[in-house]
Amino acid sequence: MDNKIIKKITIVGTGFVGSTTAYTLMLSGLISEIVLIDRNEQKADGEVMDLNHGMPFVRPVNIYRGDYKDCAGSDIVIITAGANQKPGETRIDLVKKNTEVFKSIVNEIVKYNNNCILLVVTNPVDILTYVTYKISGFPKNRVIGSGTVLDTARFRYLLSEHVGVDVRNVHSYIIGEHGDTEVAAWSLSNIAGIPMDKFCSECHQCEKQISRQKIYESVKNAAYEIINNKGATYYAVALAVRRIVEAIVRNENSILTVSSLLEGQYGIDDICLSVPAIVNSSGVEKILNVPLSDEEFTLLKNSSETLKSIAQTLDI
Ligand code: NAD
Repeated sequence: MDNKIIKKITIVGTGFVGSTTAYTLMLSGLISEIVLIDRNEQKADGEVMDLNHGMPFVRPVNIYRGDYKDCAGSDIVIITAGANQKPGETRIDLVKKNTEVFKSIVNEIVKYNNNCILLVVTNPVDILTYVTYKISGFPKNRVIGSGTVLDTARFRYLLSEHVGVDVRNVHSYIIGEHGDTEVAAWSLSNIAGIPMDKFCSECHQCEKQISRQKIYESVKNAAYEIINNKGATYYAVALAVRRIVEAIVRNENSILTVSSLLEGQYGIDDICLSVPAIVNSSGVEKILNVPLSDEEFTLLKNSSETLKSIAQTLDI
């Protein structure tokens, strides 16, 4: 196991997600240097000032606005930059727009650093992780998308609320696309080792299928609902990114549903999506072949095919 101490992180994009991620990393005490890059330099300067004024309350961390040459020496470069969907714009339009943005950003990063782990958060995250993999030329283990780490957290939270058990003792995964075709892996869900089916059959407090559908829909539509209410989502995703960074920095071998390149697992090839994977200081150490039900397997294949059909429209 590699015992290298990783301590420098660059964040490209200091909007809602990038700046909140910087805040969670600042609080984590894991990082000693955080570089913020944004094409809007004034915004990045404002975030740097605001974060630095909290310095007496955290462990020392050097936070500054940089440019791409400051990616040098970064152990992880997190990309949260990109356009948001505008009214009348299709998802494919957004994909095309952000692919162009990523071509310039990723080429700039790798000019100064080709040893780092690239962690993609910008949406559509699975497609842009694939784009980043293709453009960077990095080995697949070092190109990671935040994937369904956030969706899995939302799922576990909603399940925990439903059954009245501490979220940390409720285990389950959302897999596939971070988006409309994502899949709830009910067959893997358990509480204290009790499979969810057994837990439900002993509980009898609700109509099982209706509750399951409601929980799944709430997870899938969470971003739409939050954006409708307050314009953007950033706290939970920033904590999810911090969790991924922690697993890398501390070489934890943690199992997380990050997005990464599949090469035949689950019969899926040449596309990035999320399934449980072991994450450590080398990035995605291993993609696990978890036992899914036939229905979950079919839904996962469907999710991969949706992503592939979008990737095929791109000029990369
Ligand atoms: P935002 O508009 O607040 O921030 C985007 C930032 O990117 C802006 O500061 C902008 O100046 C910067 N930017 C744009 N183009 C750039 C370029 N070429 N170079 C450098 N900087 C550039 O948006 P946000 O709310 O922070 O969201 C950022 C992205 O994160 C979106 O794509 C959003 O959909 C995504 N997101 C992903 C998840 C997830 O789970 N993966 C969750 C929430 C949001």
